[in-house]
Amino acid sequence: MDAPRGIVFDMEGVLHVGYQPLPGAERALVVLTAAGLPHVILTNTTSKTRATISARLAEMGMPYPADRIVTAASATIAFLQRRHRGRRVLLLAEPAAFEEAAAADGIELVERWQDADVVCLGGPDESITYSHMQEAFRALMEGAAFVAMQRNRWWPTPDGPGLDAGVFVKGLEYSSGRRATIIGKPAAGAYRAALAVLGVQAADALMVGDDPVADLATAHRIGMRTCLVRTGKGPTFASPWPTADLDLPSVGELPRALGL
Ligand SMILES: [Mg+2]
Repeated sequence: MDAPRGIVFDMEGVLHVGYQPLPGAERALVVLTAAGLPHVILTNTTSKTRATISARLAEMGMPYPADRIVTAASATIAFLQRRHRGRRVLLLAEPAAFEEAAAADGIELVERWQDADVVCLGGPDESITYSHMQEAFRALMEGAAFVAMQRNRWWPTPDGPGLDAGVFVKGLEYSSGRRATIIGKPAAGAYRAALAVLGVQAADALMVGDDPVADLATAHRIGMRTCLVRTGKGPTFASPWPTADLDLPSVGELPRALGL
C-alpha cells in the first residue's frame, strides 16, 4: 500500500474504549504528527461538543484540537450552513448539539412547526417528548426539509443496549412519508466533511476504524484506503476482512505498518 497523505480515525474502539485510552494510541498519534502526516477524528457522537471531546482526549494524554474533530453534529451543522444557509431549523437533539448549532452562523433555531424550513434530528435525548415529535412531524407534512445527524439502531452502554436515534428518524419517516438526509457515518457526507478538514483527497487518505461495516465500507466505496483495527468491536468481525487494505491488532501498530 502506498503511504497515505492523511488519516481519518474513528475514535471509540480505536483510540479509546469508554474514555479509557487504548495502549499505543497516544504514541501512534505522536509519531504520525512528528512525521508530518495530518490526521483528523471522525465520530458519530452527538452528545458531546468538539470542545468537550478535545478536553476528554487531553485528560487521557492524547491532546487533540477541537477543530480537527468532526462529529455527526459538526458535519450536520456544516451541511446546514452549506445547503440551508439562513433557513430556520427545528432541531431535536441533545444539549451539546444545540450548543454547537446555536453558535454556528447561518443557522436560526426555531421551536414551532409553523416557523420551520428544516427539521433536523440529532441523537436521542430524554428531553425529547411527544410534543417535540409532533412539531417535527407537522413541519415535515408542510414540506420542511428533513435532515438527521445519524440513524443508528442502538449503542452499548454500561447497563445494556441503549436505544439510539434510528427509532426517531424511522418513525418520522414512516409517519410523514418523507426520507431524511443522513449525515453521520455510514453516510458519505461524514467522510467528505472529514476529508475537507484533513485537506486530502479520498484516494490519498486512509480510514482507520474498528467496525468494517459502520466505519470502513463507505470509506472503501468513495475511494479511501482502509485499516481495520482489532480493538473495540474489531475482534467480533471475520478475519481477515476482505476489503481492508490493512488489518492490525491495534492502532499502536499503524506507524510501523506505514513505515514510520
Ligand atoms: Mg468505533
